[in-house]
Amino acid sequence: MIFGIDIGGSYIDIVKKIGDEFFHISSIPTNQEAINNIIEEYSNRRVGIAIAGWIRKGEIVNAPNLPFKIDKIKANVIENDANCFAFGISKLYNQKNMLGITVGTGIGMGIIIDGKIFKGGGVAGELGHTIVSNKGKCVCGGVGHLECYFSGWSIKKRYGKDAKELFEENKFPYDKNFNIFCRAVANAILLFDLPFVAIGGRIGGRIREDKIRNRIYEHLPKQFKPEIKVIKDDLMVAKGVCLLVEESEGNIIK
Ligand SMILES: [Zn+2]
Repeated sequence: MIFGIDIGGSYIDIVKKIGDEFFHISSIPTNQEAINNIIEEYSNRRVGIAIAGWIRKGEIVNAPNLPFKIDKIKANVIENDANCFAFGISKLYNQKNMLGITVGTGIGMGIIIDGKIFKGGGVAGELGHTIVSNKGKCVCGGVGHLECYFSGWSIKKRYGKDAKELFEENKFPYDKNFNIFCRAVANAILLFDLPFVAIGGRIGGRIREDKIRNRIYEHLPKQFKPEIKVIKDDLMVAKGVCLLVEESEGNIIK
């Protein structure tokens, strides 16, 4: 049995994997007490932990969307959440070269090349903190980052309610900020030219697939037509980190 824990900016999702099957254990709002309890309960088990933060050599070097103390974790794997999402999709959808983009409280991107996560110096793929303007203060301290225009936190700031409510009311804004997001994804596609792009997360996974696909294609030269898929599974990050634990042990799922 392997446990996968996804500590996101708004929710903590926990799954367990037995054989080839995943089972949902819980999804709870993120707060300091919940994090402390989980670290205590799951440390020293066969566990992978996904974090909405920048990780270099196993150290969390920045977590702007996770303003909590996270330490003393003993886990088999500690990995960035978007990397876990992309790795999970790569294995479960058999895509060896792809981008996995998560939109939740923040925006993350995992880059999979030949079935492996490409990390650069550790933090490669921080799409949410790429610069799209010279206006807007980002949670990371930067200015004009993509997250200032399209992310859970900036949508809440702009519309006064959670994206979740906007989806429930069928009022999610496919507006100029959505367009800025699609343009940033198109830029990422142009940089890597990978054949498959998965979009997920609690916001990304609820975006209409036709809207996002068409808008991204509008920004791309016609020679670029990767498959673009919206993944409607809030647990994909937690599943992905389970699969990373297996891979780290050499038990690779084919
Ligand atoms: Zn930023």
